[in-house]
Amino acid sequence: MMGVIEVTPSRNSFPARLGAGILSGLRGVGSSLFDLVFPGRCAGCEQGGLPDQDRFWCSACRSRIQWIRSPLCTLCGKPFPKSPESPDHLCGECLLSTFQFDVARSSAVHAGAVRDSIHALKFGGRLHHVPALVQLLIEYIELAPDAWEGIIVPVPLHTRRLRQRGFNQAGLLARELGRRLQGTVRFDVLQRKQWTEPQTRLNREERLSNVRNAFQVVLPGEVKGGRILLLDDVYTTGSTLSECAGELKRAGAREVVALTVTRSVPELNLPPEAAQEI
Ligand SMILES: [Zn+2]
Ligand SMILES: [Zn+2]
Repeated sequence: MMGVIEVTPSRNSFPARLGAGILSGLRGVGSSLFDLVFPGRCAGCEQGGLPDQDRFWCSACRSRIQWIRSPLCTLCGKPFPKSPESPDHLCGECLLSTFQFDVARSSAVHAGAVRDSIHALKFGGRLHHVPALVQLLIEYIELAPDAWEGIIVPVPLHTRRLRQRGFNQAGLLARELGRRLQGTVRFDVLQRKQWTEPQTRLNREERLSNVRNAFQVVLPGEVKGGRILLLDDVYTTGSTLSECAGELKRAGAREVVALTVTRSVPELNLPPEAAQEI
């Protein structure tokens, strides 16, 4: 696998390799081009002058981040906020073996300042939000660093969308995550071969059929036998990540773990009136 770091399957390999990567990644926190363009400013409220140890989110915005924690689905990472005492277990969807990734996790609920930051990046082209969002991924990865070893592959955009938007937000997140972890990022192994309509207004079934066969592994030799860390900004229904994972596995990837900055959790994002009815 030329140009690709061989990833060992041993969970014990973490302290020697990825752990060192994380530590040095944290040391390198201030050297990103993004930081030079937009130093020490909160990604939530744009308050400036943040201290060095917390240069991406001010304490007020940070305190409102809804981190995704147990109990959650052991496979797709769906949280169970209504049963906080229960252990992690498979959700109804995963009992039916719907997803093609091996595991999926997200740092935070897609709400509030974090959602606004993703929108500012994705729809406003405000690229300086990238390191603040990657910081949330890093803090999640640090909880169980050995679970996130692998070749980082961003979910690709179709070239037409890439031309419209000018950048792939998942690619920018992957590049910054790779820099922070000193990991390998591959932008060239997975392509979106079919133009798909925006998913925003589609339900789960429509999303699934919308992305079916939309992706293609163009360099199967680079993923064969490897462990892939598939990266995207938001987990909504999991259909895009699942399709990508399926293609990577058909190309010979040994394992595909999906990671996103946020996850849509409809139960937690109800308007106040609706929330009171529960
Ligand atoms: Zn703030
Ligand atoms: Zn699940």
